[in-house]
Amino acid sequence: MIYGIQKTAFVDCPGIPSKGIPPSLCTVLFFGGCNLRCPYCHNKDIVLKNTEPFDVDEVFELLISRKHLIEWVCISGGEPTIYEDKLVDFVKSLKTMNFKIKLDTNGTNPSVVKNISEFVDYFAVDVKTINYKLCNSSDGFFKLMDTLWYLSRMDKPFLLRTTIYPPFVGEYFIRYVLDVLKNLNIKNIDWFFNAFDNKNVLEEKAKVYPSTTGEYIKNLLKDIEIPEDIHIHF
Ligand code: SF4
Repeated sequence: MIYGIQKTAFVDCPGIPSKGIPPSLCTVLFFGGCNLRCPYCHNKDIVLKNTEPFDVDEVFELLISRKHLIEWVCISGGEPTIYEDKLVDFVKSLKTMNFKIKLDTNGTNPSVVKNISEFVDYFAVDVKTINYKLCNSSDGFFKLMDTLWYLSRMDKPFLLRTTIYPPFVGEYFIRYVLDVLKNLNIKNIDWFFNAFDNKNVLEEKAKVYPSTTGEYIKNLLKDIEIPEDIHIHF
């Protein structure tokens, strides 16, 4: 289940400014495998499970031994929700150890998000593209909508993340997602834009696109009116 560990990280728990959740140090656990195949994915070895998994009991021991240093655990991947009930049990166990939990998800498994939400302190949900067929899912966007609808109705803290990969993300995509957020009545939300890095990617075809920069993102946003309660970070 767990194919990578980063013992101490800062950027992976950035907090949610609009909800008053501050950034924090965390340990990141990378769950292997994923139901999507985003060409630009930079976690190839985790997605393809190219290494041996860690023993789960040893992971618990490691976390307990560092409890005085790290309060938060970031469950990342890959896509952790593919483990369904095993993930829910794992997160429940972490909660009994009094860890705070952030879960990274591509949002295409709404039933698992629902089952686990009471044990998660906040979610980071990816919005990848409008056309999920580009990452091997016929209905990914609709499932993502279901996840966002559920989290917002439950008033569960979550942030949005998007990698600015040019074939997936342009001005039309941003306008479209803003409309969707408006239609779902999702307000006061933080949306983090991450630059695309063309070096370490899942599929060779992603390398033909130039890496994107802060300047590129600024330029992309320049003609778009961003509502006051949508907080873009990059
Ligand atoms: S970017 Fe995320 S959702 Fe896409 S293949 Fe990689 S781990 Fe899966």
